Amino acid sequence: MSRRILITGASVAGNTLAWWLGRHGFDVTVVERASGFRDGGQNIDVRGVGREVLRRMGLERAALDQGTGEEGTAWVDGRGRAVARFAMDASLGDGPTAEMEILRGDLARLLYDPAREHAIYRFGDHVTRIDEAADAATVTFAGGTVERYDAVLIAEGVGSTTRELVFPGANDPRWMDLTIAYFTIPRTSDDDRMWRWFNAPGGRSISLRPDMHGTTRAMLSLRQPPGGEQDWDAVRQKQFLRERFADAGWQADRVLAGMETTTDFYFDALRQVRMTRWSGGRVAVTGDAAWCATPLAGIGTTLAITGAYVLAAELARHDDVAPAFAAYERAMRPMVEDGQGVPKIAPKIMNPRSRLGIGVLHGVLRIASRPGIRRLASRFSTGRSKEPDLSGYPAPAVARQDRGDSP
Ligand SMILES: Cc1cc2nc3c(=O)[nH]c(=O)nc-3n(C[C@H](O)[C@H](O)[C@H](O)COP(=O)(O)OP(=O)(O)OC[C@H]3O[C@@H](n4cnc5c(N)ncnc54)[C@H](O)[C@@H]3O)c2cc1C
Repeated sequence: MSRRILITGASVAGNTLAWWLGRHGFDVTVVERASGFRDGGQNIDVRGVGREVLRRMGLERAALDQGTGEEGTAWVDGRGRAVARFAMDASLGDGPTAEMEILRGDLARLLYDPAREHAIYRFGDHVTRIDEAADAATVTFAGGTVERYDAVLIAEGVGSTTRELVFPGANDPRWMDLTIAYFTIPRTSDDDRMWRWFNAPGGRSISLRPDMHGTTRAMLSLRQPPGGEQDWDAVRQKQFLRERFADAGWQADRVLAGMETTTDFYFDALRQVRMTRWSGGRVAVTGDAAWCATPLAGIGTTLAITGAYVLAAELARHDDVAPAFAAYERAMRPMVEDGQGVPKIAPKIMNPRSRLGIGVLHGVLRIASRPGIRRLASRFSTGRSKEPDLSGYPAPAVARQDRGDSP
């Protein structure tokens, strides 16, 4: 196929796409709505086939080295005592804490730095219109320019506006009845290297996670049906959280105080993006914009990296966009549907409303955390059967030269 490609969104999916398409020899432009590269975001993990893609990019070692140093996950009671502990153990595979835990901004930066050697990045702009013809897509940008591309790839995350422009009404979101806020707070001397998770009555939870930047990553989550809070401004969202969490206990006071001064507040009402097709004409969607599975699935970043890699590889080996998009969809659909299969009861189980419910959850987690049970569970759940087969996608020569990983 001919070679001019526009990618919208410069986060995990967009940068992975740019990296691969640039090295496959395409002429790549990335447009990002934010005025500069976005460094923010909290702990995310990369598992299974996503690690394999990073390995093929020569970035796996660097991603492990820049990890958060989290050593496991512990559910704690109101006095901070662990009621169930899942220490990271590579021999048991990835548990709640995966071997590769990294901050979103650090991973996006790791992808962005080498990607921009082979792509043009434009910040502070976005698409307002796409006119398709048989031979090209003509794209109008908010900044006023009009340009022609052979393909437009949307990697704008869950709230993508270009997706709505091109595929209006095609997303049938699945709301997960969970509202989450992430932000960074000052570290204190009793913060350890565990992900500590505290459940408070009323379907509330507070969690604290370590990083390698001398700070602590806080999360507040609240089980409730969506009420439009994700569209409020940050001032109103913080007020909402203050009211809901003031009496939650454990470290609520400290976390709410830290929220006032944080510089990277991220708030969302969790919903999956569900589309029956991921392309039309010369436009395709990928990453969270196509299939956001929500953090509940624990696989969003792995899917974003893998989907971008597969999409780039299919564009490189087809002469036209339509068969490339179809092959990309065939390869990714089973893994995405599997990842999205998280039952809607999961937030209910993990965020009980009553003290009795919290007691039951803790009891179950205590049993599940026993070494014998963990070993047994790891034997039955490799969780990798739906991953796309990457054996047909060779790494380009330049990627092999870039590799810094041990084999
Ligand atoms: C700032 C930020 C913080 C995050 N923090 C967390 C977190 O703490 N925990 C977690 O689990 N997940 C977080 N996420 C989501 C996580 O990155 C994704 O679930 C996953 O990695 C898939 O990435 P993605 O590239 O598909 O989408 P995203 O990471 O959501 O990236 C989408 C990108 O597109 C840009 N964009 C949006 N609209 C447009 C537009 N119209 N034109 C051009 N660009 C556009 C956005 O600014 C963003 O850079 C965060 C995302 C962002 C952007």
